[in-house]
Amino acid sequence: MMDGTAGEPGRRLVFRILRYNPHDAESCPQLQRFELEEADGMTLFLALTEIRETQAPSLQFDFVCRAGICGSCGMLINGRPGLACRTLTRDLPDEITLAPLPAFELIGDLSVNTGKWMRGLSERLETWVHNPDRVDPSAIEDPMEPGLAEEIYELDRCIECGCCIAGCGTARMNDRFVGAVGLNQVARFRLDPRDGRSDTDLYQLIGDDDGVFGCMSLLGCHDHCPKSLPLQTQIAYLRRKMVRTAFKR
Ligand code: SF4
Repeated sequence: MMDGTAGEPGRRLVFRILRYNPHDAESCPQLQRFELEEADGMTLFLALTEIRETQAPSLQFDFVCRAGICGSCGMLINGRPGLACRTLTRDLPDEITLAPLPAFELIGDLSVNTGKWMRGLSERLETWVHNPDRVDPSAIEDPMEPGLAEEIYELDRCIECGCCIAGCGTARMNDRFVGAVGLNQVARFRLDPRDGRSDTDLYQLIGDDDGVFGCMSLLGCHDHCPKSLPLQTQIAYLRRKMVRTAFKR
């Protein structure tokens, strides 16, 4: 992504930002050009904020935490999904093209409704702890082995930013595909001893082309996940376990 001039102080950056308001019949998708002087340690989030404050008050983009935790500021950065708050302009060439993440409902400009998509996924895969025997929710949970807690925590680091879906060839062709974010959730609940569902219960949620067998192993999720989650390892593991379970029957 870098060119020979990246990293020099005081560069004049050129931004081409996709502007479109799907709720305005008059609006037509177009790339709008902005220029900005690069500042030390400038992130795309800071650049967009400056553009909005000084040049385009109506520019829409999302952010909450500015620290790579909320997952709100995912966008296409020179064609690759990434987080605006974690991307330094010094790592990019002088010309930067920004567009909204594909595969999600467009709210306007760079803002997309990942929340709606993630909620639908959560309802489909029932991504909450199922424990019908736990009658007293205030009771103290059984202690968990630190090693197991660590393994669950590793998969729990997903921030639901949607970058894996935006970078996934299968998700672009099949809007029912649960993607790496969904398969990672199933892998996470499979490990969790607090969840009463059996492996078979969980495998039924993802044992088809909308799930683990739809993945074409193009590695887009792996390349673009800003949290570097072991997505392809988990998908391959789930596949192997499911095939083994099916042959045991
Ligand atoms: S798996 Fe990675 S890329 Fe996908 S939503 Fe979670 S954090 Fe984002």
